[in-house]
Amino acid sequence: MDAAGLDTEGRDFTSAREMWKEELGVEDCGDESNDACRAKRCDWYQKGIAYWQGVEASMDGVLGGYGHVNDTDVKGSEAFLKPLLLERFGTGSRRLVALDCGSGIGRVTKNLLLRHFNEVDLVEPVSHFLEAAREKLAPEEDKKFSEQKAVNFYCVPLQEFMPQVGRYDVIWVQWCIGQLPDDDFLSFFKRAKVGLKPNGFFVVKENTARTGFVLDKEDNSITRSDSYFKELFKQCGLFLYRTKDQKGFPEELFPVKMYALVTDKPKSSNGGKGKSRQHKPGIIKS
Ligand code: SAH
Repeated sequence: MDAAGLDTEGRDFTSAREMWKEELGVEDCGDESNDACRAKRCDWYQKGIAYWQGVEASMDGVLGGYGHVNDTDVKGSEAFLKPLLLERFGTGSRRLVALDCGSGIGRVTKNLLLRHFNEVDLVEPVSHFLEAAREKLAPEEDKKFSEQKAVNFYCVPLQEFMPQVGRYDVIWVQWCIGQLPDDDFLSFFKRAKVGLKPNGFFVVKENTARTGFVLDKEDNSITRSDSYFKELFKQCGLFLYRTKDQKGFPEELFPVKMYALVTDKPKSSNGGKGKSRQHKPGIIKS
């Protein structure tokens, strides 16, 4: 987090702290009683929302012109998710519920989550995206009792969203958390934790910067490095259960990583390093 970063207009920052200070006003600006702070934060989010409001409600729209990566993305997510579901919830008859954060037009819900969960809720601040999702996903009258369905459509940004306590097995956060500055990132995950059921977990699937961060001045979003993410997860009180790189995306895109995060320290953690380690002698730490 102390690493240097840059923005898409070619400006260098010596640290994220310097960048946030500039974007959001005075340091550690969580002070809502300060009008200048509030206004700057409002501007930050307004620019992001305005950008997305001008984007077509289509696969190409939500994927920045890369609609064709959808299949690869979904396959990568599925390969990551399936073993996690088995390990965390077993093969029992538990009815699974997921939350799709920053859902856009419901791409992840439709292609991934509804195949593995009985109920999915969507949260998305841009109404024309959410309406497109609702049209595509809301069950018809005759399917109201179907086994897999999208249930709630919340038109709220993540920084204001409060989940229902204990409703979700998985909270899926993909390609949207960069819209939130660090302090709102932390408070979102801290709040969202209470929305998880026992053994529930978060999946964060996001672009990653090679080092530091890249601030996109067009949609006011920040692409964080792997170590930046890990530092924030730690500050949220979350533990990394597993991580994996998404493979097969076009070279020119940011590398994409998936993180599975849990609220209790994993008992036999393999540090997210994949399976191989489980067969090697472990180092016992106190
Ligand atoms: N997760 C979806 C959409 C990705 S596009 C998918 O993978 O297909 C990024 C999405 O983030 C857009 O739908 C945009 O409206 C949403 N977004 C923008 N600002 C947000 C905020 N503050 N909170 C939650 N979502 C936001």
